Amino acid sequence: MTDSRSFESLIRDVRDFPKPGIVFKDLTTLFMDADAFARAMRELEQLIDWTGVELIVAIEARGFILGGYLAATRGLGFVPIRKPGKLPSDCVREEYTLEYGSDAIEMHRDACAGGRRVVIVDDVLATGGTAAAAARLVEASDGVVGDVAFLLELDFLDGRSKLPGRTIKSLIHVGGE
Ligand code: AMP
Repeated sequence: MTDSRSFESLIRDVRDFPKPGIVFKDLTTLFMDADAFARAMRELEQLIDWTGVELIVAIEARGFILGGYLAATRGLGFVPIRKPGKLPSDCVREEYTLEYGSDAIEMHRDACAGGRRVVIVDDVLATGGTAAAAARLVEASDGVVGDVAFLLELDFLDGRSKLPGRTIKSLIHVGGE
């Protein structure tokens, strides 16, 4: 059974990072704790519906930490989503808005060819713009979006509203200030 309070106590709040007014949820303090990190990964894995899933699609950069674990543990392929200009081959690209600005992400165009079913993974669901763009990228590359999974969801930002019709799985939920 998840005790999200014990995970929450290991997450460091960094005020005014990367911009004034943002409370950044620093997960490195949870990742540094060997027992908590392993337990969080196992519990996240158990939340996800793995039926028919062939690939983990993870979002740069902290999503790679979770996605690498899940792909290796489940015996699945791993697909990176990265900031523009980082991936070497032909890409699909999506613009999105962040809690603290706007940006774009890219994925290799052939990554999900043949209608492969994927689980999308990132560390934090904030406003939902990044994950919504990631889901569009998967569909633009002919993939099928299964669960969209996060270690931490900032419930007060209602990122879920940007992901209508998607199944969202978050291990830890954080309410308002
Ligand atoms: P969003 O598109 O607003 O859901 O933002 C999600 C992405 O931005 C994730 O990749 C997070 O790593 C990062 N992010 C946004 N807000 C925060 C926050 N308050 N604390 C930590 N990471 C955040």
